[in-house]
Amino acid sequence: MKVAIIGTGPAGIMTGISAIDSGAEIIFFDNKLPLGTILPTGGGRCNLAFAEFDNTELVKYYPRGQKFLLSVFSKFSTGDTIEFFENIGIKTYIQDDLRIFPQSNSSKDVREKLLNKVKNSNVSFIKEKVTEISKNGLGFILSTEKKQYQFDKIVFAGGIKNNYEILKKLNIKLIEPKPALCAICAEDKALYNLSGVVLKNIKATTQSNQDLYGDLLITHSSLSGPLAYKISSTNAFEQFPYKIKLNFIGHSQQDFDAELIKLLDKYSKKDLINVISEFVPRSFAQYLFEKLQISQTLKANQTSKIIRNKLSKSLCEFELIIKSQKADGEIVTAGGVNLDFINPKTMEYKEIKDLYFCGEVLNIDGFTGGFNLQNCWSTGFIAGKAITKANNS
Ligand SMILES: Cc1cc2nc3c(=O)[nH]c(=O)nc-3n(C[C@H](O)[C@H](O)[C@H](O)COP(=O)(O)OP(=O)(O)OC[C@H]3O[C@@H](n4cnc5c(N)ncnc54)[C@H](O)[C@@H]3O)c2cc1C
Repeated sequence: MKVAIIGTGPAGIMTGISAIDSGAEIIFFDNKLPLGTILPTGGGRCNLAFAEFDNTELVKYYPRGQKFLLSVFSKFSTGDTIEFFENIGIKTYIQDDLRIFPQSNSSKDVREKLLNKVKNSNVSFIKEKVTEISKNGLGFILSTEKKQYQFDKIVFAGGIKNNYEILKKLNIKLIEPKPALCAICAEDKALYNLSGVVLKNIKATTQSNQDLYGDLLITHSSLSGPLAYKISSTNAFEQFPYKIKLNFIGHSQQDFDAELIKLLDKYSKKDLINVISEFVPRSFAQYLFEKLQISQTLKANQTSKIIRNKLSKSLCEFELIIKSQKADGEIVTAGGVNLDFINPKTMEYKEIKDLYFCGEVLNIDGFTGGFNLQNCWSTGFIAGKAITKANNS
């Protein structure tokens, strides 16, 4: 049996390793460096997975694909990932924030060990880009820029970003891809004067009332950092401009207002801005005072109820309009193959026998933290085993 794996990213390579014992002839197609896409992951350290061992909790880190992943993770999840890497010579450790990294802290090392494993088996690599896939009586015809090949089975692990048209032509049901995990741009340009400021542990509430938590980094032209990435992913299919509400305090406006009354009384002689700077970075407090037209020399004991309310509302329900996202800044792509058409037990496309999908090409994406690679390890593992089973039965 001849199997083509399109794409030598994490999902494709995992499929190949998982199918090592299948006895099938496996040929990888990729016009780029094998596993080149793993090199920049985790800032070069490769955040392999996330130490959540309860699958019902783990799936909550994925804006798309939760139900599907429950089935996938029942076959291969966090614990299996750790064990798999240990078996190929990569010991891992869990960071304080539960992200899992190789002890070597090196994505180069991960790449080498994975490739060693796959290269020691019955596989070959063809450095060509696939341009078309079609069906014929014998199986599949795979066309590249140079040649045509015949295969019995195909595993597509090439991602969705540059393959939308190829898959559309094959009549695959797709969700139009959108950038996710990227920086976002606020309408209020005055924010960018605060470039370098990090707003820590804040809550964002989306228009669909989803609460997201994390740090927000202000750059010279965008909002970045873990919370911005979560917002961009959660709202990947939202039309621009959209609104979000930020809470910098962690309490409701009512509770914070009550606390503020006490503080203004306690520190009555202090400048109001000094009291507020206890809650947010001083430069952000200055930005707020300017925006709300409050004098920066106002004393705590001169604060009227109107001013206090304006401040507590802004600190607890700050309305931000997001007008766009940073072009080409995405870490993953949302959208891809519609999961309704994939069997989660095999990764086979329900309407075309012997055609499998895994990794980012599926309409699955997670937040930052190792979730996207976990998707590749899990779906790649299942696809590889499904080929093996089919070949042995
Ligand atoms: C900067 C950065 C850092 C990241 N860090 C992390 C992290 O630390 N942890 C984490 O979980 N996730 C991380 N991610 C996300 C993660 O890298 C991706 O989710 C993952 O690489 C997707 O794997 P994949 O195998 O599905 O696709 P890809 O990695 O995109 O690999 C697809 C492969 O297929 C090839 N290909 C595509 N089309 C064709 C074609 N038509 N013919 C032949 N070959 C083709 C490509 O050349 C490529 O080699 C990061 C992403 C980026 C951009």
